[in-house]
This record gives sequence, C-alpha cells and structure tokens, in this order.
Amino acid sequence: MRRPIIAGNWKMYMTPSEAINLVNELKPLVSGAEAEVVVIPPFVDLIDVKKAIDGSNIKLGAQNMHWEEKGAFTGEVSPTMLKEIGVEYVVIGHSERRQYFAETDETVNKKVKSALGHGLKPIVCVGESLSQREAGEAFNVVREQTKKALDGIRSEDVLNVVIAYEPIWAIGTGKTATSKDANDVIKVIRETIADIYGIDIANEVRIQYGGSVKPDNAKELMSESDIDGALVGGASLKAQDFAKIVNY
Ligand code: PEP
Repeated sequence: MRRPIIAGNWKMYMTPSEAINLVNELKPLVSGAEAEVVVIPPFVDLIDVKKAIDGSNIKLGAQNMHWEEKGAFTGEVSPTMLKEIGVEYVVIGHSERRQYFAETDETVNKKVKSALGHGLKPIVCVGESLSQREAGEAFNVVREQTKKALDGIRSEDVLNVVIAYEPIWAIGTGKTATSKDANDVIKVIRETIADIYGIDIANEVRIQYGGSVKPDNAKELMSESDIDGALVGGASLKAQDFAKIVNY
C-alpha cells in the first residue's frame, strides 16, 4: 500500500511572517490526515516554518537545491544546509526551473543523486508541454525524463524518490488533466520504473499528479489506481483549500 503524499509548493509566495500565519492556520485543519502532508516554502521561510510545524504531522520540503555540498556558487543552497535545518523533501526539476533556470535532465539527475546521498527525499517533476501532448509525445517525454532522472540511482534508494507528474499545460492554468489521462501517464512512469528496478519496487514508488489540483477535483484524481497524491501550487496558498485537498 502506497501512502498518498500531498505537498504544497508555495513557489515565490509568502514572506516569513505570512508563512508562519499560513502554517499555523493549516496545522489543526490537517492534523487527522491519512495522507502524508508536506509544505514547500521559499528558502528564507524554511527555518521559521520548521519551528512552527514542530510537533505536528506536517513535514518540510524545499523547492530546489544545488548538487554540490559547498563551493563558490553564489545564490545557491546546498543539500547539507537543507538537511541541517530539518528539511525532509526537496523538489527537483520543477517545470518552472527547467523553463526559466535552464535545468536539464542532466542537472536533475545530479541533484537527485546528491539529495539521496544527503538523506533528502527528492520529489522529481516530469511532464510534457502542450505541443508535445498535441504531437502525441506525452508518454515518450515522461519515459525519457524519468529514465534520465533515475540514471544510476540504486534500487534501495529509489524507494525514497517521489515522482510528480505535472503536465506543463496544466500548471497554474486552471486546466487539469482528466483523472484518466493523468492515470494513464502515471502508469507509463510506473512501467518505466519497473523496466529498471522490477515491478515490486515500481509498485512501491509514489507518483503524484500536479497541475491545477483544487478542492473540487482532488477526490476524483486521488481515486485513480496509480495516483498517489498531489503536488499543489496555487491552492496550497490558502489553508482552507489545501486542507480540503489533503483531506479529500
Ligand atoms: C505546481 O506548482 O507544481 C503546480 C502544480 O501548480 P498549480 O497547482 O498552481 O497548477
């Protein structure tokens, strides 16, 4: 049985004081959740949010990291730094980072390896663009992204990886993949993992859906056979909405 994981990616929203307010409002609303609950604030909020969620069932994620432990990389944050302040999950290869910050499958793979090597659990984002979908390429795109992200990852480590299937055309647009379409792509991702690690391991890896998940579509998406939770952007910025998704 895979435990669903619902993670809220706050992107570049929420100052530290706003972040504390949001998480304090969220805590009682999700305290009985069956799903694993993760909030993913901007870097500067992480320490305050960590203190605010202490003793609750909410876990902490970061939105990105460098693969090196330290060095002359101005503006970057290392896995060691994230680990020391109590971060458990780290988003890797979000489409916004691939699109605006030149992330590639190669840097995604380096980051996944480094995160696992430092005891962080990567949430690896894959997903096709609208033109790729319209060209009938969605399955191939996610297959290739998944293979490249996991290249060289050992089977005992892959169980600590979460994959987020996020069709780019559905992120922040209000357009959601139908639950069946999302499930079909997620099955392809699971088959890809099975080709590398075998079906038993593939059946244990959690694969989320992300892309305009809202309180009113969460239940339908989550009831699909292979969707193990959600990576939520916009709707995670309102405690009531995010809690409704968590408690779908
Ligand atoms: C995201 O940021 O990963 C995301 C899915 O955003 P939204 O829910 O706003 O589409």
